[in-house]
Amino acid sequence: MGISLLIPSALRQFTGGKSELVMEAKTAREALERLVREYPPLKRHLFSETNELRSFVNIYVGDEDVRRGEGLDTGLTDGATVLIVPSIAGGSPEAGASLPSSALPDLSSAEIERYSRHLMLPNVGIEGQRKLKNARVLLVGSGGLGAPVGMYLAAAGVGRLGIVDFDVVDVTNLQRQIIHGTRDVGRPKVASARDRLSDINPHIHVEVHETRLTSENALEILRDYDVIVDGTDNFPTRYLVNDACVLLGKPNVYGSIFRFEGQASVFWARAGACYRCLYPEPPPAGLVPSCAEGGVFGVLPGIVGTIQANETIKLILGDGEPLINRLLFFDAWSMRFRELKLAKDPNCPVCGEHPSVTKLVDYEEFCGLKAPSDLAALEEVTATELKRRLDTDASVQLIDVREPFEFSIARIPNAKLIPLGQIVNRKSEIDPSRDAVLICRVGQRSAKAITELRQAGFAGRLVNLKGGMIAWSDEIDSTIPKY
Ligand code: ZN
Repeated sequence: MGISLLIPSALRQFTGGKSELVMEAKTAREALERLVREYPPLKRHLFSETNELRSFVNIYVGDEDVRRGEGLDTGLTDGATVLIVPSIAGGSPEAGASLPSSALPDLSSAEIERYSRHLMLPNVGIEGQRKLKNARVLLVGSGGLGAPVGMYLAAAGVGRLGIVDFDVVDVTNLQRQIIHGTRDVGRPKVASARDRLSDINPHIHVEVHETRLTSENALEILRDYDVIVDGTDNFPTRYLVNDACVLLGKPNVYGSIFRFEGQASVFWARAGACYRCLYPEPPPAGLVPSCAEGGVFGVLPGIVGTIQANETIKLILGDGEPLINRLLFFDAWSMRFRELKLAKDPNCPVCGEHPSVTKLVDYEEFCGLKAPSDLAALEEVTATELKRRLDTDASVQLIDVREPFEFSIARIPNAKLIPLGQIVNRKSEIDPSRDAVLICRVGQRSAKAITELRQAGFAGRLVNLKGGMIAWSDEIDSTIPKY
């Protein structure tokens, strides 16, 4: 019977860009097996060595997570849709919802005027607006997602907005992070965001935490807020925010983005699933690129972040239907929303019946991002040294592990393109008898590539270009654009 298998954009590099395969298959397993037979490099992204479905990949048939049912052997009906949902790198608060109205602050006449379109709504009204004024919301990150969330929550009159961010505004942020402007380039993001939010609404308080959220400070920072909004762009912080929210009993308004796709949900362990119920483990480093590596469609965080702001306001009001136990999956390119059902996993390591995670851990290590112990042995070359060598020695192989679009922006002459995700499968294209210098944008993906090649048994000499193409642009060829 004919079914349709939908490929998320993170994996389309392995399917020649195809987003949908129509095939004959009786079960979800059969559909996936046909997929990896047709595209063998996909196999290690979907299945472990023991042929188990990897835990950071969810498979849905229609809107049902098959791991909850009969697993991959679920029978498919004609016309069924099988959806691969990998984890990607971007309840009502008790305090706000359950505080007696006498404890809520009054509104000034200036606030009553400002919020008049809310006050006219029976679902908000004076009481709801006072709940908003009383609410304390923390934005983790003031980038693509945090920008619209912060701006709409400020405009809506959320009384206390906290922002955690350690980054500074870079010109490449401005394509989507609309809370920052051109004049803010080089400023700390928290300062730029605070100015913008205070301008939108001077009646609110903006609290800045100019620091990186870590296992050491997360509980301390999150404790003072009613709702946490996850606008992070990396897995360690995402798991840290989830676990801290579960430990503190706070709702976590989740959003993530990758290229043209977004996800949103509300994780609140008291009422439903948490992020680890959905994805118990992160993908191994290098399998799902971050926004910086994969690119992101500028309006996408605007759409996903606005959904997060919408959910946050409903949580504060204690009304409406929150995205609890529901994963919203959005494809901006096909303009299609899908809603998938989530369920609390009784075996969840953090919110399950017998949790193994009872305090915050080392999330860099958990996500496999800790520098390998043999990193000292990573051989590096500077851009200047490499140029000198290339001028006299034609035997050096240059292997560029960036994505094709990056390669088309700028490349070192004679470099061969093998994107990081394909490096192990294509290792036979590197001659082990000659030195190979690995290149990426800043030198991190190329270091990962060296580690992966060594683990895969590649015997030749591998050298990392320190600082990547950015260093090459700085030291050797200033006409190469830094992106
Ligand atoms: Zn959980």
